[in-house]
Amino acid sequence: MINKNYGVIRMEKVVIERKRNTPVRLECDVLVAGGGTAGIVAALAAARNGAKTVVIDRYGYLGGTMLNGAGPLHSFFNLYKAFPGAEKTQVVKGIPQEIIDRMIEAGGSFGHVEQEKGYSYDSTVTLIDWEIFKGVIFDMMCEAGVKLLLHTLIVDTIKEGNKVKGVIIESKSGREAVLANIVIDATGDADVAYKAGVKCINTYPDGHVGMPFGMANVNIKKAVSYFEDNDMITQIAYAKKGDCDDNIIRVGFNLKKIPAIREYMEKHGMFGPLSVSFHENDMSFINCTNIKPLDALDVEEITRAEIELRKQVVEMSKLFKKYIPGFENAYISWTPIHFGVRRTRIVECEHDITIDEIVNAKRFDDEVAVYGFHDCAPRIMIKNAGVYGIPYRALLPKGVENLLVAGRLISSDWEAHMSTRNTVSCMVQGQAVGTAAALCTKTGVSPRMLDVKLLQKTLKEQGVYFG
Ligand SMILES: Cc1cc2nc3c(=O)[nH]c(=O)nc-3n(C[C@H](O)[C@H](O)[C@H](O)COP(=O)(O)OP(=O)(O)OC[C@H]3O[C@@H](n4cnc5c(N)ncnc54)[C@H](O)[C@@H]3O)c2cc1C
Repeated sequence: MINKNYGVIRMEKVVIERKRNTPVRLECDVLVAGGGTAGIVAALAAARNGAKTVVIDRYGYLGGTMLNGAGPLHSFFNLYKAFPGAEKTQVVKGIPQEIIDRMIEAGGSFGHVEQEKGYSYDSTVTLIDWEIFKGVIFDMMCEAGVKLLLHTLIVDTIKEGNKVKGVIIESKSGREAVLANIVIDATGDADVAYKAGVKCINTYPDGHVGMPFGMANVNIKKAVSYFEDNDMITQIAYAKKGDCDDNIIRVGFNLKKIPAIREYMEKHGMFGPLSVSFHENDMSFINCTNIKPLDALDVEEITRAEIELRKQVVEMSKLFKKYIPGFENAYISWTPIHFGVRRTRIVECEHDITIDEIVNAKRFDDEVAVYGFHDCAPRIMIKNAGVYGIPYRALLPKGVENLLVAGRLISSDWEAHMSTRNTVSCMVQGQAVGTAAALCTKTGVSPRMLDVKLLQKTLKEQGVYFG
């Protein structure tokens, strides 16, 4: 096979592995594959509804891309500031809001803050301090009685006929199996659904990847006043960071006004940056590096992306230091564990959410959540600052039983995905599938046969907003 980028010939050569007996490490009611943005909420929902729940993740923390790529959480509110006269409405509540409440209590979030500029993109901004989040979410999992398997890679899916029965894992303990009544694929890349033979679409080449980074020792006030003087600011939000006069928590700025930086960014197809700051002098998140197109399911492409993006981070930080007043003494303080992937495999589900449904604020009889943000706003917005419904069928893969999915692995249409993939959407999807999986166990039915009215009633009782 020819690798398009390197011309390397991969031999069509195989090895025969030895037959083995794989020990079963755990059996549970609900197995959540991937403890990321959607997975953590799914696990909390399943466990609180009485299911013996296990979460498996390849990393040593929970939160996935939300802590390792995303900046602000988009969005708990509708786009009220873009539509004069529209009512300010919190459209996502339930477990996602409870997580924010716990974060505020732990000193790890400013809550939902109104944007002063750029509010037609997002009317509020919700930041979480990632390190505090890691502790808070472990506490919440422990309180709910969720069993965690970290540093554990899911490598295969166990199936009997068309029923998913569990997964094969690999970790320092070796190769083992975890069996479950219902499996939730929240891996982002649909690793479980794909291995179960569910039809998936590899969205390459419209998936671009990026590597946000942080810079410390920044005089943020000085930098922002330079951006203001040069009319570069696209977004801004303020909150009290502590006992200091730097209260800037979100700033978008158009760096293409600086010729040397514009040249570098255009050469590499970069956009932005958007940045957030949790602490004084700390630009915790700067999002502008980019590679497109890239097949983020190919190990050689993944390796190339890590190398190129890490180079871009260092180059951009040098340009910041050289050209932006306030960054003279700054240094790189953080890079993610892994570059950020926006879109890879999409699972074919019983319903595929379309951009028409999103912009027209379509509601569904079987909806299990609503959502009101689009990442291309104000170019693409949900009409009248409204919300669209996420139908249960959009989380139910075709042609397989006992499997549910949630997160960035739904919506095949790129423009629709630019809404459904955002963090807060993934979180509400998580509450829906976690609750559904627990109800399936309780009532002894498969997800396809679940009484959706019972699911909706349970979600409403547990704080999910339906409008
Ligand atoms: C650069 C970048 C910037 C973004 N900015 C924003 C933003 O500002 N606001 C916003 O709302 N959204 C943003 N997003 C989008 C958003 O962060 C993601 O779409 C969302 O977090 C995805 O959630 P998820 O639950 O589907 O996947 P993830 O949160 O990625 O969770 C998947 C989890 O599964 C685990 N996993 C995967 N495969 C396996 C396996 N085989 N075995 C074991 N574990 C596995 C992973 O470790 C991970 O924890 C951004 C995305 C990127 C890439």
